[in-house]
Amino acid sequence: MSKSFSNIQRRKSLQIKVGNVAVGGDAPVSVQSMTNTLTTDVAATVAQINSIAEAGADIVRVSVPSMDAAEAFREIRKQVAIPVVADIHFDYRIALKVAEYGADCLRINPGNIGNADRVRQVVDCARDYHIPIRIGVNGGSLERDLLEKYGEPTPEALVESAMRHVDYLDRFDFPYFKVSVKASDLFMCVNAYRLLAKKIDQPLHLGITEAGGLRMGSVKSSIGLGLLLSEGIGDTLRVSLAADPVEEVKVGFDILKSLGLRSRGINFIACPTCSRREYDVIGTVDALEKRLSDITMPLDVAIIGCVVNGPGECIKADIGVAGAKKHCGYYENGERVDRIPHEVLIDELEKKIRARVAYLNEHPEAARTMFV
Ligand code: SF4
Repeated sequence: MSKSFSNIQRRKSLQIKVGNVAVGGDAPVSVQSMTNTLTTDVAATVAQINSIAEAGADIVRVSVPSMDAAEAFREIRKQVAIPVVADIHFDYRIALKVAEYGADCLRINPGNIGNADRVRQVVDCARDYHIPIRIGVNGGSLERDLLEKYGEPTPEALVESAMRHVDYLDRFDFPYFKVSVKASDLFMCVNAYRLLAKKIDQPLHLGITEAGGLRMGSVKSSIGLGLLLSEGIGDTLRVSLAADPVEEVKVGFDILKSLGLRSRGINFIACPTCSRREYDVIGTVDALEKRLSDITMPLDVAIIGCVVNGPGECIKADIGVAGAKKHCGYYENGERVDRIPHEVLIDELEKKIRARVAYLNEHPEAARTMFV
């Protein structure tokens, strides 16, 4: 792997556990997604959770809007291995139920569930089952008095709302929580997290809410989360996309990979191509991305169109090809060791990459790319 110039100093936060996944402290930034099936459809929800887990997510969230959904949650929880956060709004009785049914975290805002006795019951329940709480403030559902005070959603309003919920948990001496302050406006969201990071020691769950479809949502999230993560802020994240939740996981990892904070699967380094390209670079990358999506080992693979930038990129990667007439120069571990004819490039590269992964599984000390 090429040398990284990332020098991100992560904010020191307290660590909590969501199931077996540590969030905060020195734990890697975890990637989450959320199901969009009907929770009462157990089979569909379990299938989607499994797809999300296979894509590499560390944690998944499921909304539990009714007691029927809570009963379905009980079945779902039994059938999946990944930690599951139960997302509850207002009804504290649902929180008590899903905690009993094995939720690994409760997403509920203590200030929204009524009197102090209800809050106490939820907090006691979380304490008894050793599960954390996620406070989730959203710019679209700020309290009316805060909207009147600030005139509109602002970073300060988001943080004041979050601190109200934090105060509830403080009152009950419950420090095992994480907080999100999401907004669809990128700068409002980023500034709210910056303010909140100075106020509490708990882990922060990052997200730009209602970011948009696959392309725009990915761009917005990459900028917003990228700004925060590059400042060391953020312990877990969800990229919110109006798209398949599996895409949220992929984009989440791509953001972390780009910042050198985590790595998973193949990191393709590919040139955009120009008239100097000697073979179909774009088709090769497309085909290999699909064929090798099952590989979780981090590996840098350079697919470069010609010798202008080919050798330079290939010697930094674990595996690389640089286009030449009729064949590509093939590089492994920084050295040119072979040539591959264009017409068999995709099949041969797949074989060689799989062979390298198998070798590194047996000889992890030979890895150039480090897994974080
Ligand atoms: Fe063009 Fe070669 Fe650069 Fe690729 S590496 S963009 S083919 S000059």
